Amino acid sequence: MYVNIHTHKKQSSDLAILNADLSAPDSGAFSSGIHPWNSEPMVHLADMEKLLTHENCVAIGECGLDKLKGPDLKLQEISFRSQLQLAIKFDLPCIIHCVRSYEELIKICDQIKIQNPLIIHGFNKSKISDQLIIKGFYLSFGHDLLSNISLQEAFKNIPTDRIFLENDDSSIEIEKIYECAANLKELTLQELQGSILKNTKQVFRKWQIG
Ligand SMILES: [Zn+2]
Repeated sequence: MYVNIHTHKKQSSDLAILNADLSAPDSGAFSSGIHPWNSEPMVHLADMEKLLTHENCVAIGECGLDKLKGPDLKLQEISFRSQLQLAIKFDLPCIIHCVRSYEELIKICDQIKIQNPLIIHGFNKSKISDQLIIKGFYLSFGHDLLSNISLQEAFKNIPTDRIFLENDDSSIEIEKIYECAANLKELTLQELQGSILKNTKQVFRKWQIG
């Protein structure tokens, strides 16, 4: 079973969480959120909130902070904080996009004292992995794991119970990312799939995956 926790493409398999932004897909699990690049205007929050009670909406996201792209960081922070509050209200995990803003991210999460599972998606900053694990974050790995050597080294030491895999908006198949991850962890594919399925059931509790 290849669980893919973040993709922008509708999959043939139903074991993926489609990043659906502000409209629900016809079928399959999805996440709803306001991307930090679109933090303005805030009127979308009300549309998003309506989607969160949909039976297939299993997470909020992607939301977060990006210092390289998007509106002023202050605006991004307002949008992100609002979405964390919605995560608390609707008891949902959050799929987080974070670019060069880890200090701010940790500060905001500490201030809000959010206990919901928080997953950094497309994680590729190996130097900060230990700090994020100590803080309780989950890390989701995508195509960068195939080629980024320092990320591969960090990945070997990240507890398996904090790992997710995804293909995001890349054309790389999720199977390839699983194969690479299993090799790095020195696990069989079945062992890795079992661990990630277990993590999925713990974190995405609304998702009915048998
Ligand atoms: Zn994405």
